[in-house]
Amino acid sequence: MAVLETTDLVDDLSLDELLMNVLVLNAGSSSLKFQLIATDRDAIAANKDVRLCRGQIDRFGGEVLIVVLVRDGSRKKFSVSTRDMQASLEHLMRWITSDASGIHEIQAVGDVHAVGHRVVHGGELFGESKLINDEVLKGIEDCIELAPLHNPNNIKGILAARQVFGPNLPQVAVFDTSFHHSIPEHAYLYAVPYHLYRRHHIRRYGFHGTSHRYVTERYQMLAGVSTEQTNIITLHLGNGCSAAAIRGGSSIDTSMGMTPLEGLVMGTRSGDIDPAIVSLIATKEGLSAGETEALLNTQSGLLGISGLTNDMRVLLQEQAKHDDRRVRLAIEVFCYRARKYIGAFLACMGGADAVVFTGGIGENSPEIRARICHGLEWAGLRLDDNRNKQTVGLESQISTHDSRLHAFVIPTDEELLIARDTVRCILAGPCSSQLGRPPKVEELRVH
Ligand code: ADP
Repeated sequence: MAVLETTDLVDDLSLDELLMNVLVLNAGSSSLKFQLIATDRDAIAANKDVRLCRGQIDRFGGEVLIVVLVRDGSRKKFSVSTRDMQASLEHLMRWITSDASGIHEIQAVGDVHAVGHRVVHGGELFGESKLINDEVLKGIEDCIELAPLHNPNNIKGILAARQVFGPNLPQVAVFDTSFHHSIPEHAYLYAVPYHLYRRHHIRRYGFHGTSHRYVTERYQMLAGVSTEQTNIITLHLGNGCSAAAIRGGSSIDTSMGMTPLEGLVMGTRSGDIDPAIVSLIATKEGLSAGETEALLNTQSGLLGISGLTNDMRVLLQEQAKHDDRRVRLAIEVFCYRARKYIGAFLACMGGADAVVFTGGIGENSPEIRARICHGLEWAGLRLDDNRNKQTVGLESQISTHDSRLHAFVIPTDEELLIARDTVRCILAGPCSSQLGRPPKVEELRVH
C-alpha cells in the first residue's frame, strides 16, 4: 500500500479515552515506514483506533528524506544528513514531539507507549506475535537464513527503537508468516526428499499473513459471522500477490511458499513455474543460480510478459488506449492464475462463503476483479456489476445477494493490525501492570 496516499484518518474519538500510542515500524533495506496509532481494547472492539500520523524515512546518498502525513491532513518533508536508522528515528521523534508537528497527543517521547514491528520471517518458531525480549530477538536472528534480505533490517529497527525509547519500552514483533502457522503438514510439505525439510527447513511458510489476517477479521465483522464460521479465500493483489484459504478463521493453505516467489503472477515475480526452467534459464542465458532467482523475482510477472511495466494501473490504461498484445497477455495471465487458485482452494476447503479482494489492485480495480471472477458462476459467484464498479478503495460486498459464493473488497491495513497486536500482547504479557502508568518521560528521552 502506498503509505502516503490514504486519507482515512479517523478523528471521531476523544484521545483522552485512549490508553496507548503505538509506533508501528516496518524497517526495510533502504526505507523505514512508520505509523503512530492510538488504540486500546475498546477502540479495537469498536474499530475506532486513531491514526495520528504516518510516513516514511528513505535513504538517499548521504542523507535521509523524512515524509510525514499528519492526522489533520498536513504534510511535512525534511531531509537530515545521516544514513543511520537510529539517528533518523531520533530526528523523527524530535519533530513529532515539537509544537510544529501539531501532533498534540505526543508531547514527549514518553507519550509513545509501545513500538510494534513488522518482522518478515518467524520461521517455525513464531506462530503468533511476541513481546520482544532477548530470547525473541535471538529467535528472529535464527530466522535470518530464511529471510536474509529482510530479518536483519527488522532487527536493526528493533535495536534502533530500543536505543531511542530506552530498554523499558515494550516492543512487539508481528510476523508476516505467523498467520500461516496453522497450515497442515500435507499443505506445507514439498514433495522433495524429506531430509531436506529436516536439514534446511524447506517447506511452505507463506507471507502477507498480517494482511490476510486483517481482512479475515474485518470480514467476520462485516459479515457478522463467528471465527468458526469464517470460510473464505483472501486475495492480496498488490505488487506482491498471494492467495490464502481460510477455514474456520485459520489459514489452511496459501500460494506463497518457502519464499514470496511462488504462487500468483505478481508485478515483477513469476509466481509458479516448472522448477526445471530455473536451470534451463541459467544454462541458456549464462546466469548463476542467484542471478536466475533474481530474474524470476525482479524481471518477470507483469513486467516480464508486458515488457513495459509492473504497474497494473498503467497496463490497464495502455490496454484501453493501444490494445497492445503483450499488455493484454500480461493481464490475462495474471487474472487466469488468480482464478485458478480460487478454484484450487475451493477444492481444498470443500467450498467457501466468500472471496475477499485486497491490496492495491484488489482494492482499486473493478476491471481486474471482474476478469478474475468471470467464469466462476459455476461456483455460485455472481458479481453485482454496479457495486463492483463503484467500489474503489472501499469496504463493500460486490456479489449479488443471491450468490452462493460472495465477493468482498476489504482494504488491508497491516499497520493497524500490528498496533492492535502490540496492545493485545502487552495486555497479555508480563508488562501489563505498566499500562495504567505510561513509562516516565525522563526514562525515555531521545538520546
Ligand atoms: P505493495 O504491494 O507495494 O504494497 P500496493 O498494494 O500499493 O503495492 O499495490 C500496487 C499495485 O496496485 C500496482 O500494480 C498499482 O498499479 C495497482 N493499483 C493501484 N491503484 C490501481 C487502480 N486504480 N487500478 C489498477 N491497479 C491499481
